[in-house]
Amino acid sequence: MTPLHILTFILAFFGMEFVAWFSHKYIMHGFLWHLHEDHHSENHKLFQKNDYFILIFAIPSWLTIMLGMMYQNQYSVITGIGIAVYGFVYFVLHEIFIHQRFKFLRKLDHWYFKGIRRAHKIHHKTIGKEGSSCFGMLIVPLKYFKEAKEEGKLSTSR
Ligand SMILES: [Zn+2]
Ligand SMILES: [Zn+2]
Repeated sequence: MTPLHILTFILAFFGMEFVAWFSHKYIMHGFLWHLHEDHHSENHKLFQKNDYFILIFAIPSWLTIMLGMMYQNQYSVITGIGIAVYGFVYFVLHEIFIHQRFKFLRKLDHWYFKGIRRAHKIHHKTIGKEGSSCFGMLIVPLKYFKEAKEEGKLSTSR
């Protein structure tokens, strides 16, 4: 493994945060709103139409890994792995930690995790297609981290 391999992984991983933010803001709250709508409704079913996005986002990962192996391009394989790892992290944080779809990982006592949860709950304040904020997952406005830190201080000083 060379530094360039590691750099490729990091770029793929954090590049996906941008892709996720962009597609959430302009595609899921855009022309594919009908697939995302049930994720914004009050009562979540076990399976949501929104889950199709997990499959959609798996396609570029699968393609870059498969083509990278066929043409023996390590950077393509690593890009695919970076996309897949991002997808896994997104799933754990969004479906399990934030939305509690499987009853574990209820608490992560760290300002970072509390901050991203705060920001995403703000995203869910809107039920309709328009007017939402905080479309990112891992990178959210600093104020949510600050609020989470303040809250942490209050609860320990009690
Ligand atoms: Zn949304
Ligand atoms: Zn959500």
